[in-house]
Amino acid sequence: MLIETFKVGPLFTNCYILTCKKTRESIIIDPGFDSKIEANKIIKTINSNNLELTLILNTHGHPDHTCGNGLIKDSFDVPILIHRFDSQMIGGATMENTLLFGLKNPSPKPDILIVDGNTIKFGVIKLKVIHTPGHTRGSVSLLSDKEFFSGDTLFSGSIGRTDLPGSSRYDMEKSLKKIVSLPEYLLVYPGHGPETNIGLEKDTNPFLRILNL
Ligand SMILES: [Zn+2]
Ligand SMILES: [Zn+2]
Repeated sequence: MLIETFKVGPLFTNCYILTCKKTRESIIIDPGFDSKIEANKIIKTINSNNLELTLILNTHGHPDHTCGNGLIKDSFDVPILIHRFDSQMIGGATMENTLLFGLKNPSPKPDILIVDGNTIKFGVIKLKVIHTPGHTRGSVSLLSDKEFFSGDTLFSGSIGRTDLPGSSRYDMEKSLKKIVSLPEYLLVYPGHGPETNIGLEKDTNPFLRILNL
């Protein structure tokens, strides 16, 4: 699997393009860009590398992860996937929420609602959906053979906020317990900030210690 990372939008959200090396089929995770300029850079990358984009995947419903959904969908006409518990956070009357984040483009409605245990396939690559609520009710992480895409649940040295509407500290603790039981070699690609791995976070992340994990 090829992984390209773009830091996008005012909150420096990590947007990932994942590509199957064999078939060139790709998916985009969290297109959190709010401007046509940023969108065009990513659209150009997809086109100039002959990637076949198959879907848009949101780790959760916050506008800084979803506000580029429409810009990508306009160009490639691919479905938007999000966990069913965050489905109300995008599309429809979410402009207020989008503006609260200082962003202009609300996402269109989702096309496919995902749940824990679903498998996302592109080419020969499979990503397993793991429901990791806490930051939002419908936050998901995605697991492949060597990689773990953690959204705003786990960051390098930190964790996602649990003081927002729809957040739950209790759920976050349960989700982090799930994550620390995963293999230590897994590379973690978070929703913001640098990459890390499960072993390093278990050893050094103070938030995992506070929660006695
Ligand atoms: Zn978030
Ligand atoms: Zn975020």
